[in-house]
Amino acid sequence: MIAVPGFEGRRVAVFGLGRSGLTAARALKAGGAAPVLWDDGISSRMQAEAEGFAVEDLTTADWWGFAALVLSPGVPLTHPKPHWTVDKAKAAGVEIVGDVELFARAIAALPEGERPRVVAITGTNGKSTTTALTAWVLKQAGLTVHMGGNIGIGVLALPAPTPDAVYVVEVSSYQLDLTGSFAPDVAILTNVTPDHLDRHGGMEGYVAAKARIFQNLGEGQTALIGVDERWGQGLAEGLSGAVPVRSFPSSAREAGVVAWPGGLTADGRTIDLTAARSLAGRHNAQNAAFAFAAARALGVDHEKAVAGLLSFPGLAHRMEPVGRLGKVSFVNDSKATNADAARQALSSYDRIFWIAGGRAKAGGIDDLEDLFPRVQEAFLIGEAAGPFAAALGETPQRISGDMATAVGQAYHAAAATGREETVLLSPAAASFDQFPDFEARGEAFRAAVLNLGATPFGHG
Ligand code: ADP
Repeated sequence: MIAVPGFEGRRVAVFGLGRSGLTAARALKAGGAAPVLWDDGISSRMQAEAEGFAVEDLTTADWWGFAALVLSPGVPLTHPKPHWTVDKAKAAGVEIVGDVELFARAIAALPEGERPRVVAITGTNGKSTTTALTAWVLKQAGLTVHMGGNIGIGVLALPAPTPDAVYVVEVSSYQLDLTGSFAPDVAILTNVTPDHLDRHGGMEGYVAAKARIFQNLGEGQTALIGVDERWGQGLAEGLSGAVPVRSFPSSAREAGVVAWPGGLTADGRTIDLTAARSLAGRHNAQNAAFAFAAARALGVDHEKAVAGLLSFPGLAHRMEPVGRLGKVSFVNDSKATNADAARQALSSYDRIFWIAGGRAKAGGIDDLEDLFPRVQEAFLIGEAAGPFAAALGETPQRISGDMATAVGQAYHAAAATGREETVLLSPAAASFDQFPDFEARGEAFRAAVLNLGATPFGHG
């Protein structure tokens, strides 16, 4: 755990007792603060009490006595409207922070020369892949790496800082909204496309939250910005010294070569990613470029960085090959909860038996129309089945309803062609209508595939 200094002997309000809230409370306590916890849910309050924390009703507490309010990233800071704790904190002049800000302060409090280095990754899509890939590459190069944040374990639950360590942290826009002094050595923004707009009051607020990853960028620090879309381009142009990172045309990948956009290193070489089984698709070439550039910025040599990229085992539920039956391969991209993410997967295969649907996001799959010719047939599930069917128009399609039915139908249709085919789950919709989360949806897909008698691929 990372002890948070700066609040010794002072009362700090902690609202929202999910994983990150409880971790923050522990980290504050370890640093000598007196955290005061509250949550609307009685069971989380009981858990906090059982752990020996002071639990007090923050609706009636004396807010003038608090040094800070630590807000869980799930609690609205500004939109749709500020949470009541935010109003109370502001009225009493209490600063509002999140766990990433506490992490930043814990690092900054260390004497220079004893500070670990930090790589931070944000973006609408590609955060987890880039985070895991970067951590992997650094680890393979022999560095002491701690990975966490919005992926895996909360940032303050990571091991205590040592001078040789590198923290690789995924940060969400909600977490960034609650930072002020966060200053990572390498800051990566993969891309920004419309998502979570309800919580940021529109696109401008969302982009502004993402841009906070660069707010304290100083000398010796590196900014890597995806420039495939106009918001990333705008940010890259406005930030002097930022390194623009493009995704790479699939033709370059097919030729087996990924061009390094240059600017950060003097390498001037190209990297062949064809041997990297878990980095298919042009978006993954971009993620590889981020990880490569981050590793180079931290002093990893070219060969070691490349070796790390090539040996990456991949993440579950992101274009994960799960099995094969006859000539049919099954790919689980359950993590694609919006059309932009599904676009990456659909662009990666020429012929697709596509399982899609769930709880639709704004715009549905309308933007994917240019890729519909690749879809041999669509198998639609969940609430979005009707609207997706309408959007698909003339594209062959069926309303399958549930996952097991969709997998069975997609397999039989694919096998009937007698060709090498791909059944792809890339839902372009949230999972919550039929599953607790995208992981459960991906596991349901895997189970249905294995039930057909498919031979599983090892993960990665
Ligand atoms: P996040 O953690 O940001 O949700 P993931 O790495 O889990 O991102 O990937 C989610 C989905 O986004 C994947 O299924 C993939 O299709 C898509 N994706 C991954 N990397 C990129 C990228 N660089 N640009 C656009 N889309 C991407």
